[in-house]
Amino acid sequence: MRRQWNDLSKTFQSHAPGYWAEDPPEAWDSHVWQLKHRIHSLAQIEEHLTLCEEERSGILLSGTKLALSITPHFFNLIDPVDPEDPIRRQIIPRIEETWYADTDMADPCGEDAHMPVPGLVHRYPDRVLFLVTDRCAAYCRYCTRSRVVSGAGEQELETDYEAAFHYLETHPEVRDVLLSGGDPLLFSDSKLEKILQRLHRIPHIEFIRIGSRVPIFLPQRITPAFCQMLQKYHPLFLSIHVNHPRELTTEVKEGLERLANHGVPMGNQSVLLRGVNDNVETMRVLIHKLLMCRVRPYYLYQCDLIQGSSHLRAPVSKGIEIIEGLRGHTTGYSIPQFVIDAPGGGGKVPVNPDYVIDRNEERVILRNYEGKVFEYPEPQMPVAAPLEPAATLS
Ligand SMILES: *Cc1c(COP(=O)(O)O)cnc(C)c1O
Repeated sequence: MRRQWNDLSKTFQSHAPGYWAEDPPEAWDSHVWQLKHRIHSLAQIEEHLTLCEEERSGILLSGTKLALSITPHFFNLIDPVDPEDPIRRQIIPRIEETWYADTDMADPCGEDAHMPVPGLVHRYPDRVLFLVTDRCAAYCRYCTRSRVVSGAGEQELETDYEAAFHYLETHPEVRDVLLSGGDPLLFSDSKLEKILQRLHRIPHIEFIRIGSRVPIFLPQRITPAFCQMLQKYHPLFLSIHVNHPRELTTEVKEGLERLANHGVPMGNQSVLLRGVNDNVETMRVLIHKLLMCRVRPYYLYQCDLIQGSSHLRAPVSKGIEIIEGLRGHTTGYSIPQFVIDAPGGGGKVPVNPDYVIDRNEERVILRNYEGKVFEYPEPQMPVAAPLEPAATLS
């Protein structure tokens, strides 16, 4: 088996079929097969991976909080022996998930308090977040919506579709709808199309977005038929979620290219995670690979204060250091905006390195990416220059 765990390779690799070599290749290529063969139990994991004690207890306790679920495609990307593997840290529960810090919250972005109707979050003036499902292909252990997704916890997502559509139809200030969940791409083509159709018919909705990690967890879902369906609802953007360059496999790249070929512009949202992508070099390789897949890095999120995620959170200073290590040093298109989703419901706040050293009415003092200092004078009324006699040309 030709498998490499070199984290920072820019090559796109396929890890198929990995542990599923006995199954026919047509099965592997079907997203239905992938979903049916997801990994859910300690016994299944231990068949292939060497676990540490923290992981073993974490897996046993995950059933009461956030379900454990990993697609075969993604499971194959995990280093079988290293508990610090960046893919493993995102997807295999650890006992630390049951340890709550004082600052942890069940609903860190205050979404429940901003729902005019169940399942619709209206925080910003002109756009809404529409939570259409509580299921994902696989569950990220730092999920900001772990209180409602996967069906394992106590709280349930109770989206009221009719009330949500009615709200959207009667609120002309909403021009942008972001479908998320859970993962909307877990719906069948026809079910998702019904939602898109309904939104598309509302005249003031100019722009639809879908947030999904399915292109990464389940690239087999990005079928030609699916892309042809999406194409009918332009302008439609897709926000994907990749944290580490190894997640960008050959299959993922193919799916993303197919989406791009059908005119779907894509952005990536990464979460800054301790031991996963909390260094400049990893992020640099990630964003370069994203550009090769025609995906524009959009946001780098400071990890929300979700309960049981403190072992995965990196300090804010790390995020700033990463942006500083990228800006100017590499392609501007590849640099995401670092944001903190303000705890309690303040929305996304951009956080940047300080490039403005000093500023007054007359001038701005700047430093560039190399630390060199420059001055930019603010606009001033120009002083009229004495007219010079026109030169006579003969
Ligand atoms: C992130 C988010 C949006 C979209 O924000 P953009 O900055 O436009 O990407 C909209 N509504 C809510 C509640 C959000 O959390």
